[in-house]
Amino acid sequence: TVGKLTVITGPMYSGKTTELLNFAEIYEIGRKKTLIFKPAIDTRYSADDVVTHKFHKMPARVVKDTKELFEYYQTLKEKPDAVFIDEVHFFDAELAVIVKEIALDGVDVYCAGLDMSYLWEPFETTAKLMALADEVIKKKAVCEVCGEYKATLSYKLKSNGGVFDVGGKDKYIAVCKECYERYEKNG
Ligand code: ADP
Ligand code: MG
Repeated sequence: TVGKLTVITGPMYSGKTTELLNFAEIYEIGRKKTLIFKPAIDTRYSADDVVTHKFHKMPARVVKDTKELFEYYQTLKEKPDAVFIDEVHFFDAELAVIVKEIALDGVDVYCAGLDMSYLWEPFETTAKLMALADEVIKKKAVCEVCGEYKATLSYKLKSNGGVFDVGGKDKYIAVCKECYERYEKNG
């Protein structure tokens, strides 16, 4: 059989990593073999764990790019039942090809990451994965400006460093479209 591809996406603080780790836990409770990856660029809370904003964490294999991820996967003697990849937007778009390969191996794949940059533009890697996915879970966060549970965007407070700039609440907040527009106009 071909593995199922699930993509968990949305803005910052929408619970993407929480949901990813919840799925991983379900496999582990069922004594299934799991493998969690994260990109080397994301060192916000830990160098070698996937960590949520509520500090729930699970050990992860840290890889610098798609190539290293796939090379590691191919060295495995025993195939996992499911592969989990956090922060997929940080990977090159080749990840979509590799994820398809892994699914063709009969492995379920769960990908979590931002759908859009702080510029309200799609991240190519996430967009491709969403197109290939059997299921896309779009999460939302609480808008940190108006307090409504409808934030779909990440707003960058200090607009420097580009779209691949790692940061927490000091740098990014979750906002709804209306508040994003208001901030863009009025600063
Ligand atoms: P993500 O991976 O999408 O950035 P996490 O799963 O790491 O999110 O963290 C989600 C947690 O972040 C929530 O359970 C909540 O405790 C916290 N949080 C902080 N700010 C917000 C917000 N604006 N909206 C929703 N949750 C938030
Ligand atoms: Mg996360």
